[in-house]
Amino acid sequence: MKTLQQWQTADAAHHLHPFTNQADINRQGSRVISHAQGAYIFEANGHRLLDGMSGLWCCNLGYSQPRINQAIAAQLEELPYYNTFFQCTHPRATELAQAICNKAPAHLNRVFFTNSGSEANDSVLRFVHRYWDARGKPQRKAIIARENAYHGSTIAGASLGGMGFMHEQFEPLRGIHHIPQPYWFGAKGDNADMDEQDFGLWAANQLENKILALGPDNVAAFFAEPIQGAGGVIIPPDSYWPRIQEICRQYDVLLVVDEVIFGFGRTGEWFASQFYQLEPDFIVFAKGVTNGFVPLGGVLVSDRVSEALLSHTNDLAHGFTYSGHPVACAAALATLDILAEGPISRIKNELSQTMRDYWLPLADHPLVGQARCKGLVGALELVKDKASKQRFAGNGHAGTVCRNMSLQAGLVMRATGDTMIIAPPFILDRNEIKDLTERAWQALDLTQ
Ligand code: PLP
Repeated sequence: MKTLQQWQTADAAHHLHPFTNQADINRQGSRVISHAQGAYIFEANGHRLLDGMSGLWCCNLGYSQPRINQAIAAQLEELPYYNTFFQCTHPRATELAQAICNKAPAHLNRVFFTNSGSEANDSVLRFVHRYWDARGKPQRKAIIARENAYHGSTIAGASLGGMGFMHEQFEPLRGIHHIPQPYWFGAKGDNADMDEQDFGLWAANQLENKILALGPDNVAAFFAEPIQGAGGVIIPPDSYWPRIQEICRQYDVLLVVDEVIFGFGRTGEWFASQFYQLEPDFIVFAKGVTNGFVPLGGVLVSDRVSEALLSHTNDLAHGFTYSGHPVACAAALATLDILAEGPISRIKNELSQTMRDYWLPLADHPLVGQARCKGLVGALELVKDKASKQRFAGNGHAGTVCRNMSLQAGLVMRATGDTMIIAPPFILDRNEIKDLTERAWQALDLTQ
């Protein structure tokens, strides 16, 4: 067995980490997570942390789920691999496609499987082009997405995403346009004093303005997360989504809802599209579908889009070796079974309120300008001065708090800019949610 220092040395020498500054690793060494249990992860130095991020928004049922493990082991024995190309299928892929459609809004009845959320967004782009070709409008190619959105790290995913620091590191695909996010707390200029619902309408109307600027006949689709996750848990005002849906219908623009984070329960519904009563043309999913235990992503496709896609007489020239991987599908079927037994309805009937009871009072802390939550996600806006909403210098203060103080308080949180984010596992009880918010408060106290 290696020592912590041996792991760190080997890691610093050989591992190219995603979304990590190598200088930090060289200076401090990586944090080595050696094992996990329930809602807790353990560092190799023995430090126990309440995982307030469910891994990377994916281990929604925590880390100890023997039924998922057993399903994976049994599938490895029965059929460890076969593909779903060239008229082939296997029982698990078929069962899973059917099970996911049964949970989804009624008009989405087909699933395309990928390995990740990024690939799923890439796939949607391919399908969107094919859809408009089939409809005889191949000029409809322009895509609209939102600033600061995260849709993945492939070229297409990162181009769809609206994160400036990512765009700086490659040349984004052309033809993808970004509109402002519905970020009421961050409203500036003329919008700074707007009422929340008016601001929601203003933000939604930016979609119409962009469609008109591009020419409605050129616009193919609008991509958005129901609540922006990595972009700062941006919970839209209630006025936002109904207006977006109306605009998409009016201009016949396909609505793509990226539910990589929110699909499979986080709002208290199977899909956030149901929570917000949306009728998307595509729902993108990944992460929680297998509880994060093995990679799987996919796209739910609406009947009208499927019909057009299948009206082509040639093959659908798109797919991944591991589309519908049997082991991943088996893990997902077990995950769905467990989710159906109560965790999602518990969020709806109990834990959403518990989150509100304990999370929202964090707004009383001197460093918090706003506390917000929905279902089982929450965010804290850090401010130097509450009255003026003045931020800390450098706009990255929350990162320091999450990397240092929050870990000292025994809690994993994440940061974007000056926003601290939480997405706890669904398995916490009322006392554990209280404990989580007390740790967040303690982290803020350590910061002062
Ligand atoms: N879309 C959203 C909303 C995400 O949050 C993520 C990942 O965090 C992705 C897409 C990309 O998923 P993956 O990392 O599985 O490629």
